Amino acid sequence: MDDELNRREDFPILSRTVYGKPLVYLDNGATTQKPLCVLDAMREEYLNVNANVHRGVHWMSQQATELHEQARETVRRFINARSTTEIVFTRGTTEGLNLVASSFSDAFLGEGDEVIVSVMEHHSNIVPWQLQAQKKGFRLRVIPMTDEGVLRLDEYERLFSPRTQIVSITHVSNVLGTVNPVQEMIRIAHEHGVPVVVDGAQSAPHFKIDVQQLDCDFFAFSGHKMYGPTGVGVLYGKENWLDRLPPYQGGGEMIENVSFEKTTFERPPLKFEAGTPDYIATHGLAVAIDYMTSIGLDRIELHEQELTRYALQQLSAIPGMTIYGPLDTHHPSPTTHHPAPNTHDAVISFNVGAIHHMDMGTLLDRLGIAVRTGHHCAQPLMNRLGVLGTVRASFALYNNKVDVDTLVAGIRRVQKMF
Ligand code: PLP
Repeated sequence: MDDELNRREDFPILSRTVYGKPLVYLDNGATTQKPLCVLDAMREEYLNVNANVHRGVHWMSQQATELHEQARETVRRFINARSTTEIVFTRGTTEGLNLVASSFSDAFLGEGDEVIVSVMEHHSNIVPWQLQAQKKGFRLRVIPMTDEGVLRLDEYERLFSPRTQIVSITHVSNVLGTVNPVQEMIRIAHEHGVPVVVDGAQSAPHFKIDVQQLDCDFFAFSGHKMYGPTGVGVLYGKENWLDRLPPYQGGGEMIENVSFEKTTFERPPLKFEAGTPDYIATHGLAVAIDYMTSIGLDRIELHEQELTRYALQQLSAIPGMTIYGPLDTHHPSPTTHHPAPNTHDAVISFNVGAIHHMDMGTLLDRLGIAVRTGHHCAQPLMNRLGVLGTVRASFALYNNKVDVDTLVAGIRRVQKMF
């Protein structure tokens, strides 16, 4: 059992205090802290090789371009894409999902068509589709879930019709922690000839992603949720889809030839990367990925699963506690590289008795414990659960059992105040 990775010294911010109390950072689903190696690499690039990428003949521009394109290769390896031409740099998951929704809708969606999403989507996998639906007249069909927070695959299969054009689903729920059976869902969609977008914001930070094994058509994730900098993310797209999609934004870098009469575009991925990319951040993301892989994705997964299991046990013992989502956790599978479907990943949402989630979050904060409260950008899911919001604790590789014990003691202390 590897329940202690002992990497806290790589993250100096973790030794700060808040209101005079040692910080217990349990808001990793929102964003993770950054290891020194990422901060150092970005500072070093600004200090020594800062120049705009792709368009310069001078030495520094070429160095910066090389780092930027090496980062693309690092991402390719990380998710096992076939080619770097399938790796589009974005600002984050939200931009990746907007890109697919917009370009796919422009090319393939019309009046009466249908797009399948699930009831547990983050707003960033609902609203971009709705914006396009208003323009094009297609509609969203929604996969329901059980009371345990597991998607109803029987209902999913029934949602397919001759008008279904695309499925867009989250890999791991940012509220329930549910690991959805995306591989199976992709197989079913492909049987209907329908492509699938996977929102990997909450999966890529926690276990090994293999886009070829998943056979997903698109996969979006954010750098800042996996120890990388803010403002950078990735959209993976199968080459045959990226080739067929129209550009998302226009500008420099994405063109082949421009005249006032007609513009021709670069091949993917540049076709989707208008303007100066955040090349310092792409380098930072690559260093974050190297950091994770040097520890080992399997070890990170094992550690976080151990912690999630421990936290679910300890939290369940608190009187009045309601935990949302499945209660089973998973063991990493070295053969499939995929956690068992419908188990609980490193995000735990809960409410305690009649205590308002905001009160709980505010009082925990006074004890130095950073958790998230509210609807977590998933209002349709809150409606399904019949709550206005929840308290959410989410783990990263640097959290440990002391953090969980402090959270549990904090909740018990808040309970006594009510
Ligand atoms: N999808 C899920 C499941 C998320 O948890 C989040 C962020 O919390 C997003 C999408 C949006 O990510 P970002 O804000 O980094 O674009």
